[in-house]
Amino acid sequence: MILDQFQEIKQLLSTPKKIAIIPHRNPDGDAYGSCLALYHYLLKFNHQVTVISPNDCPNFLKWLPGEEDIVVFENTTVKATQILKEAEIVFTLDFNALHRVGEKMQKVLENISPIYVMIDHHQQPDDFANFTYVDAAVCSTCQMVYQFIEKLEHLDFIDKNIATCLYTGILTDTGSFRFPATTSTTHRIVANLLDKGANNSEIYNKIHNVSTYGRLQLLGKALQNMKIVEAYQTAYITLSQSELNKFNFQKGDTEGFVNYALSLKNVIFAAIFIEDKKQGIIKISFRSVGDFSVNEFSRSHFNGGGHTNAAGGRSDVSLEKTVTKFVDLLPQYNEDLKLNK
Ligand code: 5GP
Ligand code: MN
Repeated sequence: MILDQFQEIKQLLSTPKKIAIIPHRNPDGDAYGSCLALYHYLLKFNHQVTVISPNDCPNFLKWLPGEEDIVVFENTTVKATQILKEAEIVFTLDFNALHRVGEKMQKVLENISPIYVMIDHHQQPDDFANFTYVDAAVCSTCQMVYQFIEKLEHLDFIDKNIATCLYTGILTDTGSFRFPATTSTTHRIVANLLDKGANNSEIYNKIHNVSTYGRLQLLGKALQNMKIVEAYQTAYITLSQSELNKFNFQKGDTEGFVNYALSLKNVIFAAIFIEDKKQGIIKISFRSVGDFSVNEFSRSHFNGGGHTNAAGGRSDVSLEKTVTKFVDLLPQYNEDLKLNK
């Protein structure tokens, strides 16, 4: 986005507006962190602001400041639809294609005509927004929101709540500052967030040290189910619906499981396939290290996308057939999957 457009947005936001902010379905730390940070920021200017999430978040995000104010579309569809219809500005955060909010909410978004502002860090954005502020090189949407506030020359407005929300998304989307998109700029921003009152140790504990017994048992099952395809430096994990039920699966429990497959020596491509009988789909997460693009792989074969090293996808056939399709695709990528770790 060019400087003029930030000025245009600043002008737009200079008088109180009705504003909705939307994360993607199955919101993660970056999605909720960025939405809530923007929420607290916009409230300072007397806007009427609502965060509308397609569905609920995992328990490990329930403590985020302002989470209790979020309207969940799936639970309160009539109210959420009304707010969306009345919104003058709709911010879409941490996603770049409208289908990522789910079918029902997508229909609502396609039938309203607010000013859409997309702030995101995924590759290949769809062209639905009036303002598209996207940088696929940035580690998280939370960093993008920080930079957005910076471009509006409002860094002084960042308070403890905003800093806490932004820190959370940067922490989770960088795998605790491990992933390659974590730059010196990220660390400078994080330093500023600490100065504004974000408590790094407390946030880490609230996100990561809240496992249930069932979750750890499920992790044990996932690790037992892991298969390695040595010829292609690939490893994958499956979890069936009955396995999830057995260990009392709660939303968010499988977060991070796929990284165990990627942590294997010589493995550069990892996947986890999770059966969701209710939705009738297999939810897939892909991860890679190095140049192999799981964004391209998922876009080409599994109706998804994301980043070079982390992407999501889904499949409408059975768990078994999905895995067979996956394994059968690997030889096509023979050259790419020979790279060194
Ligand atoms: P996860 O595997 O954690 O669901 O997703 C990995 C990354 O890919 C996240 O940044 C997520 O937002 C993104 N992602 C997941 N599914 C999709 C999709 O269908 N399309 C796009 N463009 N990105 C996705
Ligand atoms: Mn993100």
